[in-house]
Amino acid sequence: MRIAVNRNGPESRFFSLLLTADGRFAGRVWLAPTPGAFVHIRSIRVIGDRIGFHYPGRGKGEPPTAFQRQALAFGNALNADLRSMRVGVVGCGGTGSATAILLARLGVGQIVLIDNDIVDRTNLNRLHGSTQADADAMTPKVEVVAREIARMALGVRVVPMEAWVGDPGCRDALRSCDLIFGATDDHDGRLFLNRLAYYYLVPIIDMGLSIDVGDEDVPTIHALDGRVSVLSPGHTCLICRDVIRPVIASAEALRRTNPEEYERRKIEAYVAGGGNPAPAVVTFTTELACMAVNEMIHRLQGFRGAEGSAANRVRKFHLGEDRHPGHRPREGCPVCSSSAIWGRGDEDPFLGRAG
Ligand SMILES: [Zn+2]
Repeated sequence: MRIAVNRNGPESRFFSLLLTADGRFAGRVWLAPTPGAFVHIRSIRVIGDRIGFHYPGRGKGEPPTAFQRQALAFGNALNADLRSMRVGVVGCGGTGSATAILLARLGVGQIVLIDNDIVDRTNLNRLHGSTQADADAMTPKVEVVAREIARMALGVRVVPMEAWVGDPGCRDALRSCDLIFGATDDHDGRLFLNRLAYYYLVPIIDMGLSIDVGDEDVPTIHALDGRVSVLSPGHTCLICRDVIRPVIASAEALRRTNPEEYERRKIEAYVAGGGNPAPAVVTFTTELACMAVNEMIHRLQGFRGAEGSAANRVRKFHLGEDRHPGHRPREGCPVCSSSAIWGRGDEDPFLGRAG
């Protein structure tokens, strides 16, 4: 330690990790240069096809009454893991509000909600917890969902952040999450989360609903797809899955940073996106949230068995079947084709990119 401190400076940190024969982990952070000073690592998260947590007392003790029926299905350890977790939900519209409400009912300990939008009347068909009074008062979506979670009184700590996900004010909250659900239809926001997942090793479960309606006089469903993708080292990123459209992401970034220029280019038809509102129906946004949250439960608890994790699942609601389209990382993708940025963590500029 002394050699390393001399070489790397007094702020150097060391950690020690203990692996036991029964597969458990425990760790300490040693506080150089004070000899012998250390703090215990509160919790260790192991990510991959499954997500494992290691912390003292895991699965011991009685579950609170509200979660006993859940323990009957999945055991005490799942309840304890959920209670120990910090989970982020980015986007609090139809899908995100359903996701957050489900996470609270499962007993997740801390939930961070991030969205910069307010409730309007067109949201009332699907935003869980929203009322006409919220539309009249232009209440932020995060406040509506946080209010509903607080009213459940299940001991869940909820932190609403009325901000765009890439706002520097959200960084601490995001990197302290154990898992993040992406429920935004903002391509630029997805681009940001796509990098964050690999940089900080925080798994992201990203969702998207796509309803393709023909242009006949009476709407005809051509496709009705719900997609759940998991972003994590070893899984293909959203750019390589063709989920993020970079031209739309840059148009969204322009609209946020330079609205006048965005409007000028829109009139001249130089920017992508910004068209008609997308169709949305509450039963499908809510089922999509269930699909995503169940992927989390499986990755924690394993109820689907050894091959049960799905890096990418598309539910064809109109056909009544699930598909698992595979994508390989594109050659040279800086996010998922090599491990160069995986786990790099804090860097200036944030996530290795300016702006
Ligand atoms: Zn990629």
